[in-house]
Amino acid sequence: MRSSEANRIYFDRAADQLDLNENMRQLLLTPRREVQVQIPVELDSGAIATFIGYRVQHNNARGPMKGGLRYHSQVDLDEIRALASLMTWKTAVVNIPYGGAKGGIALDPTSLSTRELERVTRRFVDNVHDLIGPDVDIPAPDMGTSSEVMAWIMNQYDKFHGFSPACVTGKPVEYHGLPGREEATGRGVGLLTLKLLSRLGRRIPGTRVAIQGFGNVGTHTAKFLRDAECRIIAVGDATANFHSEKGLDVLEMIRYVHSNGGALAGYKGGDAISHQELLFCNCDVLIPAALGGVLTSENAGHIKAPIIIEAANAPTNPAADAFFDEIGVTVLPDILCNAGGVTASWFEWVQNRQHYQWGMNRVRQELDRILGEAFEQVWQLASTKKVSLRTAAFMLGVGRVHRATALGGIE
Ligand code: GLU
Repeated sequence: MRSSEANRIYFDRAADQLDLNENMRQLLLTPRREVQVQIPVELDSGAIATFIGYRVQHNNARGPMKGGLRYHSQVDLDEIRALASLMTWKTAVVNIPYGGAKGGIALDPTSLSTRELERVTRRFVDNVHDLIGPDVDIPAPDMGTSSEVMAWIMNQYDKFHGFSPACVTGKPVEYHGLPGREEATGRGVGLLTLKLLSRLGRRIPGTRVAIQGFGNVGTHTAKFLRDAECRIIAVGDATANFHSEKGLDVLEMIRYVHSNGGALAGYKGGDAISHQELLFCNCDVLIPAALGGVLTSENAGHIKAPIIIEAANAPTNPAADAFFDEIGVTVLPDILCNAGGVTASWFEWVQNRQHYQWGMNRVRQELDRILGEAFEQVWQLASTKKVSLRTAAFMLGVGRVHRATALGGIE
Protein backbone atom coordinates (compact mmCIF):
# COMPACT_ATOMS: atom_id res chain seq x y z
CA MET A 1 0.00 0.00 0.00
CA ARG A 2 1.28 3.47 -0.88
CA SER A 3 2.09 5.76 2.05
CA SER A 4 -0.50 8.35 1.00
CA GLU A 5 -3.24 5.68 0.84
CA ALA A 6 -2.39 4.59 4.37
CA ASN A 7 -2.67 8.17 5.57
CA ARG A 8 -6.01 8.58 3.84
CA ILE A 9 -7.41 5.72 5.93
CA TYR A 10 -6.34 7.35 9.21
CA PHE A 11 -7.55 10.75 8.01
CA ASP A 12 -10.97 9.40 6.96
CA ARG A 13 -11.51 7.73 10.32
CA ALA A 14 -11.05 11.10 12.03
CA ALA A 15 -13.00 12.98 9.34
CA ASP A 16 -15.95 10.61 9.85
CA GLN A 17 -15.94 11.37 13.58
CA LEU A 18 -15.72 15.10 12.81
CA ASP A 19 -18.46 14.78 10.21
CA LEU A 20 -16.44 16.56 7.50
CA ASN A 21 -18.02 16.61 4.06
CA GLU A 22 -16.28 15.29 0.95
CA ASN A 23 -15.36 18.75 -0.40
CA MET A 24 -13.64 19.73 2.84
CA ARG A 25 -11.80 16.39 2.91
CA GLN A 26 -10.58 17.04 -0.61
CA LEU A 27 -9.34 20.51 0.34
CA LEU A 28 -7.56 19.30 3.48
CA LEU A 29 -5.92 16.38 1.72
CA THR A 30 -4.67 18.17 -1.39
CA PRO A 31 -1.11 19.55 -1.04
CA ARG A 32 -0.70 23.25 -1.82
CA ARG A 33 2.43 22.66 -3.86
CA GLU A 34 4.72 19.78 -4.81
CA VAL A 35 8.10 20.34 -6.42
CA GLN A 36 10.59 17.90 -7.87
CA VAL A 37 14.03 19.16 -8.83
CA GLN A 38 17.07 17.82 -10.60
CA ILE A 39 20.30 18.00 -8.55
CA PRO A 40 23.40 17.43 -10.68
CA VAL A 41 26.66 17.43 -8.70
CA GLU A 42 30.27 16.68 -9.35
CA LEU A 43 31.46 13.79 -7.16
CA ASP A 44 34.93 13.77 -5.59
CA SER A 45 36.03 11.44 -8.39
CA GLY A 46 35.15 14.09 -11.00
CA ALA A 47 32.17 12.05 -12.27
CA ILE A 48 28.76 13.71 -12.44
CA ALA A 49 25.83 12.26 -10.47
CA THR A 50 22.21 13.38 -10.81
CA PHE A 51 19.89 13.17 -7.81
CA ILE A 52 16.18 13.94 -7.50
CA GLY A 53 14.96 16.23 -4.72
CA TYR A 54 11.40 16.85 -3.52
CA ARG A 55 9.58 19.37 -1.38
CA VAL A 56 5.88 18.96 -0.69
CA GLN A 57 4.14 21.88 0.99
CA HIS A 58 0.94 20.39 2.27
CA ASN A 59 -1.00 23.01 4.20
CA ASN A 60 -0.51 26.51 5.65
CA ALA A 61 -3.91 27.20 7.20
CA ARG A 62 -2.36 27.51 10.70
CA GLY A 63 0.98 29.12 9.80
CA PRO A 64 4.15 28.71 7.73
CA MET A 65 4.73 25.18 6.53
CA LYS A 66 7.19 23.14 8.56
CA GLY A 67 8.88 19.80 8.21
CA GLY A 68 12.08 17.87 7.81
CA LEU A 69 14.34 17.07 4.90
CA ARG A 70 15.08 13.36 4.50
CA TYR A 71 18.11 11.81 2.78
CA HIS A 72 17.39 8.16 2.04
CA SER A 73 17.66 5.91 -1.01
CA GLN A 74 13.95 5.02 -0.86
CA VAL A 75 12.67 8.61 -0.89
CA ASP A 76 9.98 9.19 -3.52
CA LEU A 77 7.22 11.72 -4.12
CA ASP A 78 4.43 9.61 -2.63
CA GLU A 79 6.33 9.05 0.63
CA ILE A 80 7.21 12.73 0.95
CA ARG A 81 3.60 13.67 0.21
CA ALA A 82 2.37 11.40 3.00
CA LEU A 83 4.98 12.67 5.46
CA ALA A 84 4.12 16.30 4.61
CA SER A 85 0.48 15.75 5.53
CA LEU A 86 1.52 14.05 8.79
CA MET A 87 3.44 17.26 9.62
CA THR A 88 0.25 19.30 9.14
CA TRP A 89 -1.66 17.15 11.64
CA LYS A 90 1.38 16.93 13.98
CA THR A 91 1.88 20.69 14.34
CA ALA A 92 -1.87 21.02 14.92
CA VAL A 93 -1.96 18.27 17.60
CA VAL A 94 0.65 20.10 19.68
CA ASN A 95 -1.00 23.40 18.72
CA ILE A 96 2.06 25.26 17.45
CA PRO A 97 1.53 27.92 14.76
CA TYR A 98 2.66 25.99 11.71
CA GLY A 99 1.36 24.04 8.77
CA GLY A 100 3.07 21.00 7.31
CA ALA A 101 5.69 20.20 4.68
CA LYS A 102 8.37 17.61 3.99
CA GLY A 103 11.28 17.27 1.63
CA GLY A 104 13.73 14.65 0.61
CA ILE A 105 16.50 13.66 -1.73
CA ALA A 106 16.76 10.11 -3.02
CA LEU A 107 20.31 9.19 -2.04
CA ASP A 108 22.19 7.01 0.41
CA PRO A 109 24.02 9.51 2.63
CA THR A 110 26.50 6.86 3.80
CA SER A 111 27.75 6.41 0.23
CA LEU A 112 28.71 10.09 -0.23
CA SER A 113 31.59 12.05 1.29
CA THR A 114 30.87 15.07 3.49
CA ARG A 115 31.95 17.40 0.68
CA GLU A 116 29.64 15.62 -1.77
CA LEU A 117 26.70 15.87 0.65
CA GLU A 118 27.42 19.56 1.07
CA ARG A 119 27.40 20.11 -2.70
CA VAL A 120 24.09 18.20 -3.04
CA THR A 121 22.53 20.20 -0.21
CA ARG A 122 23.63 23.59 -1.54
CA ARG A 123 22.46 22.68 -5.04
CA PHE A 124 19.07 21.66 -3.64
CA VAL A 125 18.79 25.04 -1.88
CA ASP A 126 19.71 26.79 -5.15
CA ASN A 127 16.66 25.08 -6.67
CA VAL A 128 14.12 25.76 -3.91
CA HIS A 129 15.29 28.93 -2.12
CA ASP A 130 12.46 30.97 -3.66
CA LEU A 131 9.86 28.49 -2.41
CA ILE A 132 10.99 28.27 1.23
CA GLY A 133 11.72 30.93 3.89
CA PRO A 134 11.02 31.88 7.54
CA ASP A 135 7.40 32.87 6.81
CA VAL A 136 6.73 30.31 4.12
CA ASP A 137 8.25 26.88 4.68
CA ILE A 138 11.01 26.00 7.15
CA PRO A 139 13.00 22.75 6.68
CA ALA A 140 14.59 20.79 9.56
CA PRO A 141 16.48 17.52 10.08
CA ASP A 142 14.86 14.17 9.38
CA MET A 143 16.20 10.71 8.66
CA GLY A 144 19.68 10.91 7.09
CA THR A 145 20.18 14.64 7.71
CA SER A 146 21.90 16.39 10.61
CA SER A 147 22.55 19.79 12.14
CA GLU A 148 25.52 20.10 9.77
CA VAL A 149 23.20 19.80 6.75
CA MET A 150 20.95 22.48 8.28
CA ALA A 151 23.95 24.82 8.64
CA TRP A 152 24.68 24.43 4.91
CA ILE A 153 21.02 25.16 4.13
CA MET A 154 21.05 28.39 6.16
CA ASN A 155 24.37 29.48 4.70
CA GLN A 156 23.25 28.84 1.13
CA TYR A 157 19.84 30.48 1.68
CA ASP A 158 21.59 33.55 3.10
CA LYS A 159 23.51 34.00 -0.15
CA PHE A 160 20.23 34.79 -1.90
CA HIS A 161 18.21 36.44 0.87
CA GLY A 162 20.68 37.85 3.43
CA PHE A 163 21.01 36.79 7.09
CA SER A 164 17.94 34.62 7.84
CA PRO A 165 18.63 32.11 10.63
CA ALA A 166 14.90 31.33 10.93
CA CYS A 167 14.83 29.85 7.40
CA VAL A 168 15.75 26.41 8.77
CA THR A 169 15.76 24.75 12.22
CA GLY A 170 17.84 22.01 13.81
CA LYS A 171 21.02 24.00 13.21
CA PRO A 172 24.18 23.44 15.31
CA VAL A 173 23.97 25.27 18.66
CA GLU A 174 27.14 27.21 17.71
CA TYR A 175 25.47 28.32 14.48
CA HIS A 176 22.12 29.84 15.54
CA GLY A 177 20.73 26.53 16.81
CA LEU A 178 18.82 25.78 20.02
CA PRO A 179 20.22 23.94 23.03
CA GLY A 180 18.03 20.88 23.44
CA ARG A 181 16.78 20.67 19.84
CA GLU A 182 18.86 17.61 19.09
CA GLU A 183 17.54 15.59 22.04
CA ALA A 184 13.99 16.96 21.75
CA THR A 185 12.35 14.22 19.67
CA GLY A 186 13.77 11.43 21.85
CA ARG A 187 13.04 13.35 25.05
CA GLY A 188 9.43 13.80 23.92
CA VAL A 189 9.10 10.12 23.01
CA GLY A 190 10.47 9.14 26.43
CA LEU A 191 8.32 11.62 28.32
CA LEU A 192 5.12 10.55 26.56
CA THR A 193 5.97 6.88 27.08
CA LEU A 194 6.10 7.56 30.84
CA LYS A 195 2.81 9.47 30.71
CA LEU A 196 1.16 6.61 28.84
CA LEU A 197 2.51 3.99 31.26
CA SER A 198 1.14 6.02 34.19
CA ARG A 199 -2.24 6.44 32.51
CA LEU A 200 -2.40 2.71 31.88
CA GLY A 201 -1.65 2.14 35.57
CA ARG A 202 1.69 0.44 34.92
CA ARG A 203 4.77 0.71 37.10
CA ILE A 204 7.59 2.59 35.36
CA PRO A 205 10.80 1.22 36.98
CA GLY A 206 11.73 -2.10 35.42
CA THR A 207 9.51 -1.64 32.33
CA ARG A 208 11.10 -3.75 29.57
CA VAL A 209 11.67 -1.74 26.43
CA ALA A 210 12.80 -2.74 22.90
CA ILE A 211 13.93 -0.01 20.51
CA GLN A 212 14.24 -0.49 16.75
CA GLY A 213 16.44 2.30 15.37
CA PHE A 214 19.42 3.84 17.15
CA GLY A 215 19.94 7.16 15.41
CA ASN A 216 19.19 10.55 16.94
CA VAL A 217 15.67 9.62 18.08
CA GLY A 218 16.44 6.07 19.24
CA THR A 219 19.52 7.03 21.27
CA HIS A 220 17.89 9.94 23.09
CA THR A 221 14.75 7.90 23.77
CA ALA A 222 16.86 5.07 25.20
CA LYS A 223 18.80 7.45 27.42
CA PHE A 224 15.66 9.18 28.73
CA LEU A 225 13.92 5.89 29.55
CA ARG A 226 17.05 4.45 31.13
CA ASP A 227 17.25 7.52 33.37
CA ALA A 228 13.63 6.81 34.36
CA GLU A 229 14.73 3.30 35.43
CA CYS A 230 13.18 1.42 32.54
CA ARG A 231 15.12 -1.64 31.40
CA ILE A 232 16.22 -1.41 27.77
CA ILE A 233 16.36 -5.09 26.83
CA ALA A 234 16.72 -4.86 23.03
CA VAL A 235 18.19 -2.29 20.66
CA GLY A 236 18.87 -2.52 16.94
CA ASP A 237 19.64 -0.55 13.83
CA ALA A 238 20.08 -1.35 10.14
CA THR A 239 23.46 -2.98 10.85
CA ALA A 240 22.90 -5.12 14.00
CA ASN A 241 20.46 -5.95 16.83
CA PHE A 242 21.20 -6.85 20.45
CA HIS A 243 19.31 -8.31 23.40
CA SER A 244 19.99 -8.67 27.11
CA GLU A 245 17.27 -9.74 29.53
CA LYS A 246 19.00 -7.97 32.42
CA GLY A 247 19.20 -4.74 30.41
CA LEU A 248 21.67 -3.31 27.89
CA ASP A 249 24.20 -0.67 28.87
CA VAL A 250 22.61 2.19 26.93
CA LEU A 251 25.32 4.76 27.63
CA GLU A 252 28.04 2.38 26.49
CA MET A 253 26.05 1.61 23.31
CA ILE A 254 25.66 5.32 22.56
CA ARG A 255 29.40 5.87 23.01
CA TYR A 256 30.01 2.90 20.73
CA VAL A 257 27.81 4.14 17.86
CA HIS A 258 29.33 7.62 18.09
CA SER A 259 32.79 6.12 17.66
CA ASN A 260 31.63 3.69 14.96
CA GLY A 261 30.22 5.99 12.28
CA GLY A 262 26.71 5.80 13.76
CA ALA A 263 26.39 2.00 13.41
CA LEU A 264 25.81 -0.70 16.05
CA ALA A 265 27.61 -3.37 14.00
CA GLY A 266 30.45 -4.95 15.98
CA TYR A 267 29.07 -4.05 19.43
CA LYS A 268 30.00 -6.69 22.01
CA GLY A 269 27.84 -5.92 25.06
CA GLY A 270 24.73 -8.00 24.30
CA ASP A 271 23.47 -11.13 22.52
CA ALA A 272 23.22 -10.58 18.78
CA ILE A 273 19.66 -11.21 17.50
CA SER A 274 17.93 -10.71 14.14
CA HIS A 275 15.84 -7.71 13.17
CA GLN A 276 12.73 -9.90 13.44
CA GLU A 277 13.69 -11.25 16.83
CA LEU A 278 13.91 -7.68 18.07
CA LEU A 279 10.41 -6.81 16.82
CA PHE A 280 8.97 -10.05 18.22
CA CYS A 281 10.81 -10.04 21.55
CA ASN A 282 9.03 -10.42 24.85
CA CYS A 283 8.84 -6.84 26.19
CA ASP A 284 6.40 -4.34 27.67
CA VAL A 285 7.05 -1.51 25.21
CA LEU A 286 8.15 -1.71 21.57
CA ILE A 287 9.50 1.51 20.06
CA PRO A 288 9.97 1.63 16.29
CA ALA A 289 12.31 4.61 15.84
CA ALA A 290 13.53 4.24 12.28
CA LEU A 291 11.83 3.75 8.91
CA GLY A 292 8.11 3.76 8.17
CA GLY A 293 6.05 0.65 7.37
CA VAL A 294 7.82 -1.81 9.71
CA LEU A 295 4.65 -3.13 11.39
CA THR A 296 2.47 -4.88 8.82
CA SER A 297 -0.36 -7.40 8.56
CA GLU A 298 2.29 -10.11 8.09
CA ASN A 299 4.19 -9.48 11.32
CA ALA A 300 1.57 -7.82 13.61
CA GLY A 301 0.41 -11.19 14.98
CA HIS A 302 3.92 -11.97 16.24
CA ILE A 303 4.40 -8.75 18.21
CA LYS A 304 4.31 -9.49 21.94
CA ALA A 305 4.51 -5.93 23.28
CA PRO A 306 1.19 -4.66 24.70
CA ILE A 307 2.34 -1.06 24.05
CA ILE A 308 3.76 0.38 20.82
CA ILE A 309 5.35 3.82 20.82
CA GLU A 310 5.64 5.34 17.33
CA ALA A 311 8.87 7.31 17.52
CA ALA A 312 9.28 6.90 13.74
CA ASN A 313 6.90 8.47 11.27
CA ALA A 314 4.28 6.03 9.92
CA PRO A 315 5.81 2.78 11.28
CA THR A 316 2.44 0.99 11.47
CA ASN A 317 0.41 0.28 8.36
CA PRO A 318 -3.42 0.44 8.63
CA ALA A 319 -3.97 -3.33 8.63
CA ALA A 320 -1.54 -3.79 11.52
CA ASP A 321 -3.08 -0.78 13.27
CA ALA A 322 -6.59 -2.26 13.00
CA PHE A 323 -5.29 -5.58 14.34
CA PHE A 324 -3.61 -3.91 17.33
CA ASP A 325 -6.79 -1.99 18.05
CA GLU A 326 -8.83 -5.19 17.95
CA ILE A 327 -6.61 -7.19 20.32
CA GLY A 328 -6.11 -4.28 22.74
CA VAL A 329 -2.50 -3.30 22.00
CA THR A 330 -2.09 0.40 22.83
CA VAL A 331 -0.42 2.44 20.08
CA LEU A 332 0.89 5.92 20.86
CA PRO A 333 0.63 7.54 17.39
CA ASP A 334 3.53 9.25 15.60
CA ILE A 335 1.83 12.64 15.18
CA LEU A 336 1.75 12.99 18.96
CA CYS A 337 4.61 10.75 20.04
CA ASN A 338 7.44 12.30 17.99
CA ALA A 339 6.19 15.90 17.98
CA GLY A 340 8.93 16.98 20.40
CA GLY A 341 11.27 17.65 17.49
CA VAL A 342 9.07 20.09 15.66
CA THR A 343 8.03 21.71 18.94
CA ALA A 344 11.68 22.48 19.77
CA SER A 345 12.07 23.64 16.16
CA TRP A 346 9.40 26.20 16.90
CA PHE A 347 11.40 27.46 19.92
CA GLU A 348 14.48 27.71 17.70
CA TRP A 349 12.55 29.69 15.09
CA VAL A 350 11.15 32.03 17.78
CA GLN A 351 14.67 32.46 19.21
CA ASN A 352 16.09 33.27 15.77
CA ARG A 353 13.35 35.78 15.04
CA GLN A 354 13.90 37.51 18.39
CA HIS A 355 17.70 37.36 18.10
CA TYR A 356 17.61 35.97 21.63
CA GLN A 357 19.23 32.89 23.18
CA TRP A 358 17.16 30.29 25.03
CA GLY A 359 18.73 28.13 27.76
CA MET A 360 18.38 24.36 28.05
CA ASN A 361 16.15 24.48 31.15
CA ARG A 362 13.62 26.72 29.50
CA VAL A 363 13.59 24.54 26.36
CA ARG A 364 12.98 21.37 28.39
CA GLN A 365 10.34 23.00 30.58
CA GLU A 366 8.32 24.42 27.68
CA LEU A 367 8.71 21.23 25.66
CA ASP A 368 7.44 19.07 28.52
CA ARG A 369 4.51 21.42 29.10
CA ILE A 370 3.38 21.51 25.46
CA LEU A 371 3.72 17.76 24.95
CA GLY A 372 2.04 17.04 28.28
CA GLU A 373 -0.96 19.19 27.38
CA ALA A 374 -1.29 17.59 23.94
CA PHE A 375 -1.11 14.12 25.50
CA GLU A 376 -3.89 14.93 27.98
CA GLN A 377 -6.11 16.34 25.22
CA VAL A 378 -5.62 13.27 23.04
CA TRP A 379 -6.15 10.91 25.99
CA GLN A 380 -9.38 12.67 27.03
CA LEU A 381 -10.73 12.73 23.48
CA ALA A 382 -9.95 9.03 23.03
CA SER A 383 -11.75 8.23 26.31
CA THR A 384 -14.84 10.33 25.65
CA LYS A 385 -15.26 9.29 22.00
CA LYS A 386 -14.16 5.69 22.66
CA VAL A 387 -11.68 5.75 19.81
CA SER A 388 -8.01 4.79 19.56
CA LEU A 389 -5.30 7.27 20.52
CA ARG A 390 -4.44 7.55 16.80
CA THR A 391 -7.99 8.46 15.79
CA ALA A 392 -8.17 10.93 18.69
CA ALA A 393 -4.87 12.56 17.66
CA PHE A 394 -6.04 12.81 14.06
CA MET A 395 -9.37 14.25 15.24
CA LEU A 396 -7.58 16.91 17.26
CA GLY A 397 -5.14 17.78 14.45
CA VAL A 398 -7.54 17.62 11.51
CA GLY A 399 -10.21 19.45 13.53
CA ARG A 400 -7.86 22.37 14.26
CA VAL A 401 -6.76 22.65 10.63
CA HIS A 402 -10.38 22.48 9.52
CA ARG A 403 -11.38 25.30 11.89
CA ALA A 404 -8.49 27.51 10.78
CA THR A 405 -9.41 26.87 7.15
CA ALA A 406 -13.05 27.73 7.78
CA LEU A 407 -12.13 30.89 9.73
CA GLY A 408 -9.62 32.12 7.15
CA GLY A 409 -11.85 31.31 4.19
CA ILE A 410 -10.53 30.37 0.78
CA GLU A 411 -11.12 33.55 -1.26
N1 GLU B 1 11.62 15.74 10.93
C1 GLU B 1 10.97 15.94 12.19
C2 GLU B 1 9.56 15.41 12.17
O1 GLU B 1 9.23 14.53 11.39
C3 GLU B 1 11.09 17.39 12.66
C4 GLU B 1 10.48 18.42 11.77
C5 GLU B 1 10.76 19.86 12.17
O2 GLU B 1 11.41 20.09 13.18
O3 GLU B 1 10.32 20.74 11.41
O4 GLU B 1 8.74 15.79 12.94
